[in-house]
Parts: sequence; structure tokens; C-alpha cells
Amino acid sequence: MTAITPSGSSTNIDVALIGGGIMSTTLGSLLKQLQPTWSISLFENLAQAGLESSDPWNNAGTGHAALCELNYTPAAADGSVPTAKAVGINEQFHISRQFWAHMVSEGHIGSPKEFINPLPHMSFVWGDAHSDYLKRRYEALRAEPLFEKIEFSEDHAELADWVPLVMEAATPTSG
Ligand SMILES: Cc1cc2nc3c(=O)[nH]c(=O)nc-3n(C[C@H](O)[C@H](O)[C@H](O)COP(=O)(O)OP(=O)(O)OC[C@H]3O[C@@H](n4cnc5c(N)ncnc54)[C@H](O)[C@@H]3O)c2cc1C
Repeated sequence: MTAITPSGSSTNIDVALIGGGIMSTTLGSLLKQLQPTWSISLFENLAQAGLESSDPWNNAGTGHAALCELNYTPAAADGSVPTAKAVGINEQFHISRQFWAHMVSEGHIGSPKEFINPLPHMSFVWGDAHSDYLKRRYEALRAEPLFEKIEFSEDHAELADWVPLVMEAATPTSG
């Protein structure tokens, strides 16, 4: 296809990527691996790449691996917690990690510590109904190999050990 550059000249390209966020740059990197001879142009409206949603200040910075995102495991009408979506998303996250590992080993990106760091994830809920749901989610997910290290606690002292600042303000209920 023919693309017109900002300076007004025309150029022949195989792929045009619109936007310089994480999605276009990842797709461009993938295509470069699969089709090294293709010419790829990336067009960005702003002065630099990554200034919108992909900017580190504009998102929470967690890798969505379905570890703590409860919206991926809504309870079914019968109260059970289906795990298929969470497992699928977690598998996708592992594929992303494999791709990044490949890019590091090929020397295309630098030290992984500069862009990804493992951290414990936590879902924190209040009230009996939400706590009951979280327990059922835990029971359902712990049977999955990708989630086997998941833990659940309602024990105040243990929670204080996990999240001291959160629990500092919480008052234990009796019984
Ligand atoms: C508050 C918030 C918190 C989030 N937290 C997380 C999180 O913890 N974990 C997570 O995985 N995701 C999170 N996300 C989502 C994540 O940030 C986005 O899914 C991701 O950054 C989207 O990348 P993108 O490349 O599609 O979009 P963007 O990074 O927005 O890139 C799109 C680019 O396209 C450019 N553009 C638009 N139109 C044109 C045009 N016509 N011509 C040229 N350029 C154009 C824009 O200028 C922009 O640079 C969060 C998002 C928000 C808003």
C-alpha cells in the first residue's frame, strides 16, 4: 500500500500501524519477528509514542493475569464460580511473557527488570456475601495448576501480615 508521510512524500509499505501505544508496538514487534522483510510504518498523532493509555502514569501497571481481577470470574446463578475465562487470560499472559523472554534473548529489548517485576496480587473484599464469593472463587481456582499458589484468609492477624497498612485501620469483628 502507499502511505503519505507527514512531510508529504509517498512511500510503499506492507503494514500501517495507527497509534504508538502498547498494542501497535507489540503487533509491530510480532510482525517483524514473523515477516522480517515486511516494511512496517507506525503513525502517531502525538509528539511521542506511548503518551496515552500506555503511559506508565495513565494505567495501574499490573499485568492482567486474572489473578485478582474479580470481573473475570463472576459467580454463576447457582453460586458456582466458573474459572474458564480466568484460566484463558492467565494462559494469554504466559504467552506474552514467552514473547518478552524471546525478545530479551534476541537482544531486542533490555533487562526485563526495567519493564516487568513480579508482585503478589490481592483481592480484598468486605462483608459476608463478598467474602463468601471470594472463598468460592479461591476453592474453584486453586484446583487449576496455573492458580495452585493462590491463598485465602479471613484471619485478621494473617491479613495484617499480608497488608499491614490496610489492616491498621480495620477493627476485628468478634465471633
Ligand atoms: C486508568 C487506567 C488503568 C489501567 N490499568 C491497566 C493495568 O493495570 N493493566 C493493564 O494491562 N492495562 C491497564 N489499562 C489498560 C491499558 O492501559 C490499555 O489497554 C493499553 O495501554 C491500550 O494500549 P493501546 O496501544 O491500544 O492504546 P494507547 O496507549 O492509548 O495508544 C493509542 C495511540 O494511538 C494514537 N492515535 C489515536 N488515533 C490516532 C490517529 N488517528 N492517528 C495516529 N495516532 C493515533 C494515540 O495518540 C495513542 O498514542 C488501564 C487503562 C486505564 C485508562
